[in-house]
Amino acid sequence: MTKRCSFCGRGESEVQLLISGMEGFICDQCVEQAGEIIRDTLEFKKKKDKGFKLSELPKPMDIKRFLDQYVIGQDDAKRFLSVSVYNHYKRLMQADSGDDVEIEKSNIIMVGSTGTGKTLLARTIAKLLKVPFTIVDATVLTEAGYVGEDIESILTRLLQVADYNVAQAEKGIVFIDEIDKIARKGDNPSITRDVSGEGVQQGLLKLLEGSVVNVPPQGGRKHPDQKMIPVNTKNILFICGGAFDGIEKKIAQRLNTNVVGYNAVRNTATIDKKNMMQYIAPQDLKAFGLIPEIIGRLPVLTYLNPLDREALRSILTEPKNSIIKQYVKLFQMDGVKLTFEESVYEYIVDKAVEYKLGARGLRSIVETIMMDVMFELPSQKPESYVLTLDYAKKQIEKANMARLQSA
Ligand code: ADP
Repeated sequence: MTKRCSFCGRGESEVQLLISGMEGFICDQCVEQAGEIIRDTLEFKKKKDKGFKLSELPKPMDIKRFLDQYVIGQDDAKRFLSVSVYNHYKRLMQADSGDDVEIEKSNIIMVGSTGTGKTLLARTIAKLLKVPFTIVDATVLTEAGYVGEDIESILTRLLQVADYNVAQAEKGIVFIDEIDKIARKGDNPSITRDVSGEGVQQGLLKLLEGSVVNVPPQGGRKHPDQKMIPVNTKNILFICGGAFDGIEKKIAQRLNTNVVGYNAVRNTATIDKKNMMQYIAPQDLKAFGLIPEIIGRLPVLTYLNPLDREALRSILTEPKNSIIKQYVKLFQMDGVKLTFEESVYEYIVDKAVEYKLGARGLRSIVETIMMDVMFELPSQKPESYVLTLDYAKKQIEKANMARLQSA
């Protein structure tokens, strides 16, 4: 008896391969077809799952409350981010509805010294997003023809996150970190070629404005025989972040020159010199070296506050996954109840301030204090362990703090 495919009925001689099952057979062509059906169905389901209703979305206040659980302070940046993300959803729904009132997107730029929580904000908000999200670093971008990555590669990651589903990627959000690194050096256009400056900004402008760009699917440099994926950036929300080292000086200069006329005295009196970032305005970004067109495409400008002692102290213990909570968890897994003397926290903050390590340094300080305990306790398995101030001091004095400083 000739064996036949139980699905299409073709005989063994008519197909390339016949796979036998418990009670029948399936041919190679039917397997392929079934594969396609599965792929399409799952994809459609995925798309449907990712659809959303406005009433079911977190409102700006909900988003901010969520961010509050992980990020200390930075209220302004949190409010701006929450509103922008919410508006992004609204705009996507509007774009789908065919309404003729077109809501334009409001890309964001966040300015704040390094280690004040820009990336942390971006990562945290990503946890509750219903659209693809990715973080890219602007430092690797250079003008075409130079060593580095093409500007379009910014979208490669987004495509990857969206599983190469272009329609999904076109609704995504991209966080471009270290945007200040592509600023023109100096206020006047340079005579020599500016590899990582204005050319890159022009390229970025194209993405921000909304256009169809050809994205290399694997990222990096485009090369001629690579198949490009066209992606429309019209609905992609861009959030940019940068430290803009030294921008405080530009802000101060502007404020000083502005302080003329009848309200001069009042203005100078109320300026908080310790936190100049809060007065940031678009013209300061221009003075720093961003081209006006880029600034125009980043209409939402917000800032992060420098972290003072109090903020550092809170960062240590308050966030949902604070450094201290993480260590307590680590010990708990060994059955050891870890507690700290209150004064240890103050001491850690003292050291972070003394060595100008900022929030990033908190972890390395705690790590230095805990290293020996982490080595010994899992074998000794006491029921509990209290980390005292004396012990913390001894560990820090033993360690080479200069090493931490360069971290
Ligand atoms: P940057 O502003 O340079 O992007 P990050 O967001 O990467 O800084 O912050 C570095 C680390 O410092 C974070 O991973 C986090 O542990 C800590 N940190 C910084 N700012 C805050 C903050 N406002 N709240 C809680 N943790 C913070």
